[in-house]
Amino acid sequence: MPVYRIRGVDVDFPYDAYDCQITYMDRVLQSLQQGNNALLESPTGTGKTLCLLCSALAWRRTFGEFLRGGGGGGGGGGSQPSGSQQSGASATQSSSYPVIIYASRTHSQLRQVIKELKATSYRPKMAVLGSREQMCIHEEVSKLRGKAQNNGCHYLCKKRLCRHNNIVTDYMKNNTELGSEPFDIEDLVNIGRTKGPCPYYISRELSKSVDILFAPYNYLIDPGNRRSLTGISWNNAVLIFDEAHNLESICADAASFDLLTSNLTSCITEAQECIQLCSFKRSIENSAEKQFDPENYAILKALLMALEKKIGELVIDSKELGYTKPGSYIYEFLSELNITSETSKKLIETIDSASLLLEEGNSGETKAGVKAKSTVSRLETIRDMLDIIFKGGGQNHAKYYSFHVNESSRQTSGDSLQVFGKASRTLSWWCFNPGLAMEEFLKLGVRSIILTSGTLSPLDSLAMELNLEFPVRLENPHVISQDQIWVGVVPVGPSGHPLNSSYRTRETVKYKQELGTVIG
Ligand code: SF4
Repeated sequence: MPVYRIRGVDVDFPYDAYDCQITYMDRVLQSLQQGNNALLESPTGTGKTLCLLCSALAWRRTFGEFLRGGGGGGGGGGSQPSGSQQSGASATQSSSYPVIIYASRTHSQLRQVIKELKATSYRPKMAVLGSREQMCIHEEVSKLRGKAQNNGCHYLCKKRLCRHNNIVTDYMKNNTELGSEPFDIEDLVNIGRTKGPCPYYISRELSKSVDILFAPYNYLIDPGNRRSLTGISWNNAVLIFDEAHNLESICADAASFDLLTSNLTSCITEAQECIQLCSFKRSIENSAEKQFDPENYAILKALLMALEKKIGELVIDSKELGYTKPGSYIYEFLSELNITSETSKKLIETIDSASLLLEEGNSGETKAGVKAKSTVSRLETIRDMLDIIFKGGGQNHAKYYSFHVNESSRQTSGDSLQVFGKASRTLSWWCFNPGLAMEEFLKLGVRSIILTSGTLSPLDSLAMELNLEFPVRLENPHVISQDQIWVGVVPVGPSGHPLNSSYRTRETVKYKQELGTVIG
C-alpha cells in the first residue's frame, strides 16, 4: 500500500491518492495536530471516508500502538509511526490516548464506513454502538420496541434475570481481542446468538476502551442518549461527523420539544396507574418504601392535569399563527404551576421511580393483579422536557428559544391513532441555536470536531449557526471533469421495468437486474 508523508505523519493509503485526497488528509491532520475544529467539504465520490479513516488513525498511532496489540497499522507499506510520543506503550497505558468518535447519520452508512476500515491496513481497537432494537436477543424483550424495550431490559438486568446480560463480564474477560478486527452490529448479534452474551452490552463495554468508536448521530447529540453512554473518554477525544449536511437542524431538534396534549393525557393515565400500583405494592409487600410513595404520583398527576388545563386555556387568536412568546416565557408559564428549577428535580425523581414501577407493573412483579396497561413510559417525555427547560439549572439558554402553542383539529397521537374533528393542542419549545448541542461537546473536553460532507457550503453561515470556531476549512473541487458527466433521467430499463429505487423496491431482484443491465 502506498504511504504518504503528510505533515510529518506517515499515512498508509490503500490506493494511489488523488491530489484532492492528499489535500483532504492534510486538512484532517492539521485539525488534529492543532486541536482545532474543521469544516471539510469534498464532493461525493472523492473518497472522504477512506481519507478520514486513514489520516485520523495514522495521527492516532503517532501516540502509540493501538490498544491490545490489534495487529498495528502500516504492515503492508512498511511505514513506521512518525513523531511517536510513546511508541511501544502497553495496552493499559494506551487508554489515555485520544479516542476517535466517528458518527454518521444511519447504521447503513456506518456499515459502509466499517467496510472501508477493512480495506485499510489499520487495525484499531473498535466498537460500534447500536440500539436494543437491533441487538437484543432476549426472546421476549427483543419483540418490544422503543422505551418499552429499554424499560424491559433495565428491569431484567436490575434483577439479574437476563441470562445474556449475566455472562457479558465473563465473556469480555475471556475474549480480550474482541474489537481488534473490524466488525459490524450483525457480527455482534451472531456472537450473541451462538455464544450467549448480550450484543448490546458487549458493545457498551467495548466502547469504554477503544481507539475508534462508531455511532449514529443521535447517540451523541441527543442528551438522553449521550447520558447513557457511560465510560466513554470524551476528554481529548476527536469527534467526526460524516455526512454532516443538515447537522444544524438535527442539533436544533435534539434541543427542542413538542408536547402533544394527547401525550399529556397518556402521562396522566400513567401517573394514575402508578398510584394504584404503588398502593398495591405497599399493601402486598407491607412496606413503606419512600421511593414508592403514592402521594408523589398523586402530586405528579395533579400537576400534569393542571398543565393540560393551562395549555387549553391559552387564548389563541389565530389558528394559523398559533400562540407565540419569547422562550423565557416558559419559566413564567410553569412557575404558575410551581414547576421551577428546584421542584423539577423532585419531579424528575418521581418520574424515574414511576418508570421503574411501570416496568414492574408490566412484568406483573407486584403480584397484585394490577398490571400497567401501557408498554411505553410516556412520562419519560415529560422528563426529557424538564431536562431541556432546566438544563444546567440556569435560564440563559432560553434566549435562543421560542415558546409556541398551536391548535389543530386533526392529529396523530403517539399511538398512531388518528383523531378527527377534535381540537388538540401542542406546546412547543423550539431551539433556534444548533450551537447549544455543539457546546455540550466542548464542555466534555472534546479536542477537535470535524464536520464533513459533499455539501456544506456556505461554510461561513454553517459555522455561525453552529456557534463554533472552525479555523480549518476546505472546499475541494470535483475530481471528475465536465466532459465525463452526462445528466439525464432514466425512468425505465431496457425491458421496461421502472427504475424505482425507493425503499419498497430497491431490494427486489427485478429492480437490481434492470439497474445492472442499464449500467452494464
Ligand atoms: S440485556 Fe441484552 S439481551 Fe437482555 S434484555 Fe437487555 S438488551 Fe436484551
